[in-house]
Amino acid sequence: MTARHDLREELKMATEAVREAARLCMDVLQEMQHKPVRKRDSSPVTVADYGSQALICEALQRSFPDDPVVAEESASELLDEGNDAILDGILQHVRVYRPDADAGEIAGWIDVGAHGRPERRFWTLDPVDGTKGFLRGAQFAIALALVVDGRPVLGCVACPRLDLEGSSGVLVTAVRGGGTHLEPLFDRGRPKPLRVSSTDHPGAARYCESVEHTHSSHEDAATVAADIGLILPPVRMDSQAKYAVVADGQAEVYLRLPSGRRYVENVWDHAAGCLLVEEAGGRVTDCRGADLDFGHGRRLTQNRGVIATNGLLHERVLDALGRLS
Ligand code: AMP
Ligand code: MG
Repeated sequence: MTARHDLREELKMATEAVREAARLCMDVLQEMQHKPVRKRDSSPVTVADYGSQALICEALQRSFPDDPVVAEESASELLDEGNDAILDGILQHVRVYRPDADAGEIAGWIDVGAHGRPERRFWTLDPVDGTKGFLRGAQFAIALALVVDGRPVLGCVACPRLDLEGSSGVLVTAVRGGGTHLEPLFDRGRPKPLRVSSTDHPGAARYCESVEHTHSSHEDAATVAADIGLILPPVRMDSQAKYAVVADGQAEVYLRLPSGRRYVENVWDHAAGCLLVEEAGGRVTDCRGADLDFGHGRRLTQNRGVIATNGLLHERVLDALGRLS
């Protein structure tokens, strides 16, 4: 049996859960009557973040009860004072898909994702990646990955507002050894294999980076780009949609260069996206050229920043990073 066949059940469950969560996010966007609350670290979080995490964690728990889940949100903050409106919003939106759910149950599903210890096999979920993009009406993603022995083996990224391959809203999946595939997120359509771009000429290459300069240094990226001759302006985009764009050959390089000295990346921000690019024939490392190591709990403690490329331009980017003072 191939690796692909080994994970058939996981892939089916992951794509169904992520599709459902994407629909919930679009329901919330259409209303957007609930203001985001600020988390204790002051980042924004919405009904969609919690609702998406509740739906996917419930599905994971039902299908794979023994698998730990490492997800971004926690229900404890929901019970902080002043969050009644967001609690009502979550209940209303989750009940569209789980009519019998009550608030206690939903909080329990959200906290299925509270796992923290390193594990040999675990799922990691970003229920709304790029929340700032979501709030701005720009790109966001729902990203779910299965990690085994520190490496993602299955990645599933829904990008409800991304147009690729003629679809408005895409679901991009990858299984290690089985390639990367794109299908329409909201309509029916056959999965189509994706390949990274074959451009090795920096003058024709496009690079993408975060919209938020606090998430990735635009200044260092511009220096690297000038050094290796990437003359096209950067494509700025929120969320793991950037990995999907590289996997589809619409950009050759994704630069995520640390903007501060202390930040350590979260596993849920990269596990799924990383596999999309690798299985489409590209390469993903940190800024020093090391593989991303997902085997240390909730954060990528062994890595600094992230570089994803079509493979052909990777060494040039790493060399230029080495020259950054
Ligand atoms: P992006 O949309 O690519 O800018 O990435 C969004 C993710 O950036 C969020 O899910 C956060 O977990 C993460 N993030 C928050 N602060 C930082 C930071 N200082 N550096 C890098 N990533 C961050
Ligand atoms: Mg995120």
